[in-house]
Amino acid sequence: MTKSCTLCSTPKDILIRCQIDETQKWHFVCPGACWKSVSGGVEDARGLEGKYPYYKYGGMWKDRSADGPISAKKPRKVKERQKEEMKKRLEGKAGEEAQDDEEGSTE
Ligand SMILES: [Zn+2]
Repeated sequence: MTKSCTLCSTPKDILIRCQIDETQKWHFVCPGACWKSVSGGVEDARGLEGKYPYYKYGGMWKDRSADGPISAKKPRKVKERQKEEMKKRLEGKAGEEAQDDEEGSTE
């Protein structure tokens, strides 16, 4: 499920959660023009407090279903294969510690 940008109403997979006005309401703005227009394109608007006094960065919102079974099937397979190959490559030299595992992302 996508969420809509609270400024331009465009549905997006990724939005930036932030406060942008005196209501201190959390908005979800698309990372493009909208976010730039409220933050100046700086994550925490550092140094831009004068221009964006109400801006507060609250993290990224990501559509989890975007990683769902349909869209992720192919990339995941490729990723696993690459992981296998990497493992084989590393087993020779580095052993276990070089493994960059992604446990917990089994959906
Ligand atoms: Zn927008």
